[in-house]
Amino acid sequence: MGMRIGHGPEISQCEWPESVTRMQGRNVRSGIPAFVEVSVHDGNVNTFIRRDSDDSVFAAEIAAFEAYRTYAACPGHAFERREWRNGAGVCERCKMWSPNVFEPLERCQECGAATYYSSFEGRFWCEMHDSLRPRRPFEFDPADVDDSSYSSAEFEEALSTILVAIASKGKE
Ligand SMILES: [Zn+2]
Ligand SMILES: [Zn+2]
Repeated sequence: MGMRIGHGPEISQCEWPESVTRMQGRNVRSGIPAFVEVSVHDGNVNTFIRRDSDDSVFAAEIAAFEAYRTYAACPGHAFERREWRNGAGVCERCKMWSPNVFEPLERCQECGAATYYSSFEGRFWCEMHDSLRPRRPFEFDPADVDDSSYSSAEFEEALSTILVAIASKGKE
């Protein structure tokens, strides 16, 4: 209890484990549902949960917490790879998506190790050999950036959207 949800004024209403590393949320805005996202690494729970609500950030949090409790109560995860090639899997019992439960299916271009560390045009490199990966030309022009428009909240929201797309890919 007492954890703040993202940068907003809302305080968590659920008894999350202390190992929650990240909690984001947003209340209902005109036409946009509320959401809560949380990264949990606790006991046999290692996942990223997102729930939306048309009601409030608290309703979204309660839904996320119910998912956490379902995962925590699982009698023993039985992971399936499904379409994931990066080592993630989904428990066929409790439906928890979890990273790093299998060896990645990709192989490092240089040493053949199972990896999903970095990629370029469908080829992969392990952490040790990442420096050999071709780089894209740097297209970003600092002259085009207006510093006053920068918002870390917007950045985090964009990042959240990406993480959700990744997390939801493994669900049915
Ligand atoms: Zn499970
Ligand atoms: Zn390598």
